[in-house]
Amino acid sequence: MVLVSNSSKIAVAGLRSTRLSVRSETSGPGARADVGRARSFLALRARMLSSPSLAGALQFMQVTTRPWEPHELTAWLHEHVVAPGWMKAPRAVREPGADVVALCGIEDRRREVAALAERARRRVALALLDFVAPNPEGGFLRAALYSARVRWSVAVDRAGWLPAPRESDFLSDVVLSLFAAEILSGAELYRSHMTVCAACGRVAFAQEARPRGAGCPRCDGEIKGQAL
Ligand SMILES: [Zn+2]
Repeated sequence: MVLVSNSSKIAVAGLRSTRLSVRSETSGPGARADVGRARSFLALRARMLSSPSLAGALQFMQVTTRPWEPHELTAWLHEHVVAPGWMKAPRAVREPGADVVALCGIEDRRREVAALAERARRRVALALLDFVAPNPEGGFLRAALYSARVRWSVAVDRAGWLPAPRESDFLSDVVLSLFAAEILSGAELYRSHMTVCAACGRVAFAQEARPRGAGCPRCDGEIKGQAL
């Protein structure tokens, strides 16, 4: 089975129904703020739809909400990390506190793959929770820069950050390099609209400020984010 690359659809699910506020900018500060949020959300949506690295990162967070099968891990690595040319195929997958799983013979390591993916997901979610916190430490963006898991690329038509993970990196750091490459190019935009569930790590993007106290649609956990 090949994973369907539908994370862009996932990421913007529910966004298509959003409408730009048509209230006049002369209607007051509240209306101006609404228009500002709607505009920045449209800018964010355009970025998200054209970012293969974000698509891979969001798909990881989407599919690892259940135990990951070995063939799903190898398919994800190939489609979202190796095929775009960001990293060579690793011989093994690593995560702190989990058994190292060699890709050769991975089909027999179902339990270990599920445990490793779960740990990676938790570590990624913690990094994203820090990113959307009121006083973020900025850990994962700084770590991606200092350890060169992202690189600046200048092409004919555009310049920007690209993921540059290494085969020996932890799986969570590979995923975070995909997030970092996209977020570094528009951190304020992401910080304004990204929300993360403190319980399950679900990542979502909100145009409107959600009512405070509204729970995660997946697990009813507490939603964190500056969009709230
Ligand atoms: Zn949740």
